[in-house]
Amino acid sequence: MSERPPLPRPAAFPVNLAQSLLKPAVMRSFTTVLMPGGFLFLAIMVVVITPPASLSALIQIYPYAVFGAGLLFGFRFHRSQLLFATLVLGIADRALLQYAAGDAPLEGTARIVFNAAAVLVPLNLAGLSFIAERGLVTARGLLRLIIIFAQLPIMALLCRPEQAGLTALLEHRLMDIPFVGGLPIAQPALLAFGVAFGLVTVRFICRPDLIVSGFMWALAATLLALTAGRIGAVSTLYFATAGLILVVSVIETSYVLAYRDELTGLQTRRALSEALLKLGGRYAVAMIDVDHFKKFNDQYGHDAGDQLLRMVAAKLTKVLGDERAFRYGGEEFCVLFPGQSHQDAIPHLETLRRAVEASSLTLRDPNRPAKKPKESKSNGAPRQTVSVTVSIGVAEGKDRNTDPEQVITAADEALYRAKNAGRNMVSV
Ligand code: GH3
Ligand code: MG
Ligand code: MG
Repeated sequence: MSERPPLPRPAAFPVNLAQSLLKPAVMRSFTTVLMPGGFLFLAIMVVVITPPASLSALIQIYPYAVFGAGLLFGFRFHRSQLLFATLVLGIADRALLQYAAGDAPLEGTARIVFNAAAVLVPLNLAGLSFIAERGLVTARGLLRLIIIFAQLPIMALLCRPEQAGLTALLEHRLMDIPFVGGLPIAQPALLAFGVAFGLVTVRFICRPDLIVSGFMWALAATLLALTAGRIGAVSTLYFATAGLILVVSVIETSYVLAYRDELTGLQTRRALSEALLKLGGRYAVAMIDVDHFKKFNDQYGHDAGDQLLRMVAAKLTKVLGDERAFRYGGEEFCVLFPGQSHQDAIPHLETLRRAVEASSLTLRDPNRPAKKPKESKSNGAPRQTVSVTVSIGVAEGKDRNTDPEQVITAADEALYRAKNAGRNMVSV
């Protein structure tokens, strides 16, 4: 193992936004938490703290552009989370501007609208971070729309004098906590934000994706909208930024999905096509195919097959590096070696082949039948351990004039030679 030659850095890989997100898993989840929501959140704080001369012009356009984009993208890309969250933020912003704007201390209706919005908006956002995409014009979609709009008449009812008891609850002092008394939102609203942050964090832990992290930063921007000062330009800036964070999260998610395979976490064939175009000079290409995978699927089930593909992909990343490995399709993978000949690449591929051969996979549920189990029945048997091998074909491109597709074809032909020669080997 120690005599393995060092891997040279890839020469000409696409360095773009997707690539910056396409990093090893730990780095990726760190990026997922901070980008793009954290960046936008910080940017708007800078704008508010050091307002540019053109701030008043920005206020005339910014919220309309953002809320418009949120509704449009939400509708166009069937992202009900985005569409509904934009509605919640837009309605809250406009309602607060209508009823609670200005420098005077909030009284009467203004106070009720403010207190109700401060409780309802975080809870709505937290709820929306949990919903699965089930379309807009469906029974569920319409129900969600009704729930959002039903809150408006409820708020109007709250503003009636006979509901004074209920509205007093919105500012009820839940406990005596030092520091909290001086905050510009009441304790029930603070509690609502606490619950919302807790729920979205749980959601993120269960499903760490860009949209959920977007909801987290949108909540933070909403909290600032309600606490940074009186309702007016600043609150609108923060509400609109909450919307912008969600819009950008959705756009970025679509972008990353095109470049990152959901099952294995490797780069996709689209990313490979772009990487191939940027190759220059000498390079090697390897095609890797799991041996007898059809049989594996038949014997252990499709889910176990997926688990195995993830394991092989993890080995690929570990041995050859995340930036050079791609899922070509099905159970085939492709690896690029920029600046290397096929002879240079072979030792690395041998290391990979041996690593896959030596590793074993503990199946999550050995009793789960693929279709109909041939022999093993449940009866609490210990977890089953299985292993597989891969065959690898490698070919080389000499210079810029070599068509990368031809090199891939040559690597594919070498792969078939490896298969015909008995599998579990690297062939040129
Ligand atoms: P060989 O050693 O010759 O490669 O034999 P093989 O059985 O692996 O043959 P082949 O490459 O034709 O089999 C591909 C199989 O991979 C067929 C398909 O069911 C399975 N497969 C493709 N994509 C996936 C996937 O995403 N998940 C799972 N579980 N199976 C997949
Ligand atoms: Mg195959
Ligand atoms: Mg195969």
